Amino acid sequence: MSNIQKRINEIKEEIDHISDNCNRETKPSLIAVSKYHSVESIIEAIKSGQKIFGENKVQEALNKFTEIKLKFPDIKLHMIGPLQTNKVKDVFSLFDVIQSVDRPKLVKEISKQQTKFGKKIDCFIQVNIGNEPQKAGVSPEDLDELISLCKNLSVPIIGLMCIPPIQGNPQYHFHKMKKLADRHHLKHLSMGMSSDYEHAIKEGATYIRVGTAIFGKRDQN
Ligand SMILES: *Cc1c(COP(=O)(O)O)cnc(C)c1O
Repeated sequence: MSNIQKRINEIKEEIDHISDNCNRETKPSLIAVSKYHSVESIIEAIKSGQKIFGENKVQEALNKFTEIKLKFPDIKLHMIGPLQTNKVKDVFSLFDVIQSVDRPKLVKEISKQQTKFGKKIDCFIQVNIGNEPQKAGVSPEDLDELISLCKNLSVPIIGLMCIPPIQGNPQYHFHKMKKLADRHHLKHLSMGMSSDYEHAIKEGATYIRVGTAIFGKRDQN
């Protein structure tokens, strides 16, 4: 068994263990974040049964996953990075979920591509939960308005996503996210990365996004 396969098995066991400990009925799904990692590494992960992957750059994802998805048609790919409007059509041709919806202009473009492609893609709204000036995501104060726009333009929002501030207590931010999702009757919460997924699971994450703990260190972020 390769290292990648071993790590995936270990993380899945940990997810089960943490979920049992906090009496969660449904366990969160593991998204393997494969940005900056090779097709070979991704295929190792697929061989261990991993089906959901996350990428944060459209071009890199096209280069790697166009072929992978032909070979393994049941793979699901989530867009988790900042998204420019001119890339939305490429996202529609390759990805299954968009987790980084964060502004009206992007919602309008997604709505337009839905019509062109004749299909819808499940979306998450990314929330800048720590109100950090440099970070992507809609501020919690502007969330209501963005959700209304999505409803008006028939963009399907199934949940919220966040990257909490590096400093401070992630659990506090995850708890706030859970409250926001509940208030808007949203079923899904994408939160928790290699270093903090335990907290995220305890606070109700339905998807965790794990890169480093599966594939090892990256040269870039
Ligand atoms: C890179 C990335 C991750 C994975 O981070 P790790 O710390 O390597 O687990 C998760 N979510 C997003 C949005 C990312 O860009």
